[in-house]
Amino acid sequence: MPEGPSLVIAKEAMRGFIGKKVKSVSGNSKIDFQRMHRRKLTDIRTWGKHLLLCFDEFTVRIHFLMFGSYSINSFRDREPRLSLEFAKGSLNFYACAVRYLEEPPDEIYDWSADVLSDVWDEKAARKKLKATPKTLVTDALLDQTIFSGVGNIIKNEVLYRIKVHPKTKVGDLPPRKLTEMIKEARNYSFDFLKWKKEYTLKKHWLVHTKKTCQRDGNPIRKEYLGTTKRRTFFCESCQKRYPS
Ligand SMILES: [Zn+2]
Repeated sequence: MPEGPSLVIAKEAMRGFIGKKVKSVSGNSKIDFQRMHRRKLTDIRTWGKHLLLCFDEFTVRIHFLMFGSYSINSFRDREPRLSLEFAKGSLNFYACAVRYLEEPPDEIYDWSADVLSDVWDEKAARKKLKATPKTLVTDALLDQTIFSGVGNIIKNEVLYRIKVHPKTKVGDLPPRKLTEMIKEARNYSFDFLKWKKEYTLKKHWLVHTKKTCQRDGNPIRKEYLGTTKRRTFFCESCQKRYPS
């Protein structure tokens, strides 16, 4: 699943279409395409894993789910869910969920929860975490209402970076570790963004899909943890399970 930084990259790549009028719309989504016909794309925004195509009176929300993707000015060998054609070029979205949002995005989205947003709010994240002390950190990091944009790779790498065991409960984290988790969720997301742009993301993985801990040489475990049951890679030896 594309994580938040990948959507920021998509948004930047699509920027040239802002202010341009949609010439034709097609695809296998069931939404009413006519609404977009001849309308001007006024902005493209992201909130975590949501890509928002903004028009004057409505917004089209693209959610990439597990296998969603997009192409610009070219087509894949399958039918797009949504294809927007402009005078010059096209935007095509595949295997994603597409829907209209009637309310302005600012009324729907809590931008302060987006780890890549300029208005990301650490204190708000801390408050939300404090309210769910029994949640495992492996689930908390994937909670889009707390860390919008954080996906499974970022989760694994953040926990490895701060040396916290994924089965630790949020309420058992010492305050400084809680602070570190919140800070690194954002820091790692920006590192992810930078590395992804350089095509060096995988090279920088320290624990995700790895076999051996590069800190101590112990084997990296792979388990499907938490209510989210996502692939979790961790080192039993240097990632501490609190309370110790
Ligand atoms: Zn280790």
